[in-house]
Amino acid sequence: MIPRVILKPKRAQPFLGRHPWVFAGAVDRVEGTPADGDEVELVSTAGHFIARGLYNSRSKIRVRLYCWQEGVPLDRAFFQRRLEDAISLRHKTLRLNTPDAGYRMCFSESDYLSGLIVDRYGEWLTIQFTALGLAQRRSMLGEILRERLSPRGIYLRTEKGIGRLEGVELHDELLWGEPPPPDLSIVENGLRLFINLAEGQKTGYYLDQRDNRAAVARLCHGKRVLDAFCYSGGFGLYAAKAGAAEVLGVDASATALQLAKLNAQVNGLSDITFVNADVFHHLAELVERGEKFGVVVLDPPKFARNRAAVPEAMKGYRRLHQLALKLLERDGILVSCCCSGLISMLELEELLGQVAVDARRDLQILERRGAAADHPVAVTCPETGYLKCLISRVVD
Ligand code: SAH
Repeated sequence: MIPRVILKPKRAQPFLGRHPWVFAGAVDRVEGTPADGDEVELVSTAGHFIARGLYNSRSKIRVRLYCWQEGVPLDRAFFQRRLEDAISLRHKTLRLNTPDAGYRMCFSESDYLSGLIVDRYGEWLTIQFTALGLAQRRSMLGEILRERLSPRGIYLRTEKGIGRLEGVELHDELLWGEPPPPDLSIVENGLRLFINLAEGQKTGYYLDQRDNRAAVARLCHGKRVLDAFCYSGGFGLYAAKAGAAEVLGVDASATALQLAKLNAQVNGLSDITFVNADVFHHLAELVERGEKFGVVVLDPPKFARNRAAVPEAMKGYRRLHQLALKLLERDGILVSCCCSGLISMLELEELLGQVAVDARRDLQILERRGAAADHPVAVTCPETGYLKCLISRVVD
């Protein structure tokens, strides 16, 4: 019999609702002696089976749940089925499987594989583990991916702080196959984009913004565009390709801007300038100079990493929006992105309302958007819907 994790009374509801994270505080006791990463059954106080998951005594998430069907082992065949479901969405349903494509093949809880992220960049895959149980199974998971997708190489990327959170020591390294070439690139909506898969932010690129970039590009023709927090060029490159009059990209990372410049060059986009600066300072400077833009994109990093950080994060978002409204001309387009899962769409809209009223400007929301469909939202895990992108218009 596999070890059993018994819940405290009245703590079963979220897991009957198929939320995958069992925090230590919900656990009454453990029967048996599971090692970290071992399979366990989660059972109610009355002893009824709820789900099967992987145990980790070193994590606040004591058990991650993967299967709600009794008697189904979390073996190779199980993970193969789950990965096949994830691949099927990207390849059969979304038809993202084109040569040189970049997309997220598997997105952790979004694909019912808590702790496993797989991205495809052309002929390479990156794999990221945020759960000890799956990190332990990395050679098996890598093998499934190799058999099914035949990549030239698989690169392991690690998230900062994961060693401390999960008690697993991982390092960025080539997991299998050939190392990615220094000029690795993907094609996204007709743009060739260089990807630094070994050292770039995230796993090399912000794949989740693909459709939002395209949506914003549609509104950029003939406009002067400010792309704040531009990373490797993202929104700004799309805007330039869509016929923007002029694009200014701002980012604090010099390495990201090197890629951005290369991306502009290889796509033959010349009306685009990149500035290596702190966005808060640089936008204030632009305001002081009386500069005006037809489109302002705000795509800052995650400001709120935990609940305690939310008030300070809101101040940051507020400040950015205050500056953006000063820079936007009449009929201008404001793009507000927020990837802090702890801040909701509603809170972002409320903030926009307050900032607009303070600035005495009328603002209309044109589109409420999320991440692209290769970053789906699991209905049983609302945390998977982390990205918000509001496109609004300054009426006057
Ligand atoms: N818009 C990009 C993704 C942005 S990610 C895209 O479409 O791909 C957030 C970016 O903000 C990172 O590139 C990071 O280097 C940058 N950044 C973080 N803090 C910053 C600051 N205070 N000023 C300028 N850039 C900053």
